[in-house]
Amino acid sequence: MKKNVKEILEELDYDNLIKLKYDLDNGAVHLKRILNRKIQEIEKKNMHVCANCGRKINPMKDFEIVVTYGTPDFKRRAHLCSVDCLLDFSKELKAIESKARKVKDESV
Ligand SMILES: [Zn+2]
Repeated sequence: MKKNVKEILEELDYDNLIKLKYDLDNGAVHLKRILNRKIQEIEKKNMHVCANCGRKINPMKDFEIVVTYGTPDFKRRAHLCSVDCLLDFSKELKAIESKARKVKDESV
């Protein structure tokens, strides 16, 4: 269950509340460090890699194109960092599509 700031503060004991207030009164250096570390941790965990060029994509900050493709029983997802990469990747998709159609035609 995700908690909001008020709920988190209500769980802190008196000593931690005093420490937090002291930190806030003095520029919140400690709190900023903890927040930055936590944000970096979440961004790193959710980072995607462009299927065409290999560039890292932060879906929370960067432009991203997501393509879902494949057969009904085997769907795949590609993350792409730009329209240029999408156009390059479409050539690869064309080959994948041709191969999938060939396999389907041979099985009928
Ligand atoms: Zn790319």
